[in-house]
Amino acid sequence: MSNEPRIWTLQDFEIGKALGKGKFGHVYLAREKRTHYIVALKMLSKRQLLESRMERQLRREIEIQSHLKHPNILRLFGYFWDEKRIYLILEYAPNGELFNELRIERKFSEPKSANYIEQVINALMCLHENNIIHRDIKPENLLNSCGVIKISDFGWSVHAPTTRRKTLCGTLDYLPPEMVCREEYDEFIDHWALGVLTYEFLVGEPPFESREPRETYRRIEGLQYNVPSHISEEARDFISKLLKRNPYERMSLEEALEHPWLVKHRNSMV
Ligand code: AMP
Repeated sequence: MSNEPRIWTLQDFEIGKALGKGKFGHVYLAREKRTHYIVALKMLSKRQLLESRMERQLRREIEIQSHLKHPNILRLFGYFWDEKRIYLILEYAPNGELFNELRIERKFSEPKSANYIEQVINALMCLHENNIIHRDIKPENLLNSCGVIKISDFGWSVHAPTTRRKTLCGTLDYLPPEMVCREEYDEFIDHWALGVLTYEFLVGEPPFESREPRETYRRIEGLQYNVPSHISEEARDFISKLLKRNPYERMSLEEALEHPWLVKHRNSMV
């Protein structure tokens, strides 16, 4: 897919099988007719977007994702629209959501988790260097392309040049204490989510999960979680250095990359 800006239409693509359904429409496998390049075409209903007042969020998503070029960030090659729909031309990730992979395998081994987490850290480093906070890191927003993890879904991402923000967003299980307490927050919320993600990969469920949202909030605030005994000391330490109540005490992404748990599994077979 060329990087040159061009005007696309639906006629430029052969549409294949449905890859999945999101909140505002379907995603299809598609092939660009001229180059035969395979992409994922996300078709969003304008009416539904307007009804849910999501236009600004989509605009932000397009603005952010189209400028990011990193192996661990899903590419947005372009977009176009017709009367009824908005179409996003996305990089195709053949293995789909990590969420499904995790549900099928129930939990990931330590080498596999470490490998995936390292790739998520590399993506987050790129985002934070560009002053972008993802705000919604979770297995549903990570795609697998033949072992290469791609962060997707930038609907909740924000450019954060200077100010700290106060909007409550993201997914309950991944909310950091500063959001639960409606305090201001910054990019360190992604570090917290990385800790939650590591736990969920290794254990198969997120650390603060509960049937009652209020109970989840309470556990997050009180930093109440248990690590099962099969989890290694190094992994436990890795998680605990990210799940800190004080955002500024959380391990930096650079430190995370050099943490003994990741170093131990780097270059190991997955
Ligand atoms: P979404 O609207 O982003 O939640 O996407 C709905 C579903 O489509 C997801 O659950 C994935 O299974 C699939 N999907 C979305 N984007 C892609 C992609 N780039 N490559 C492969 N599958 C995708």
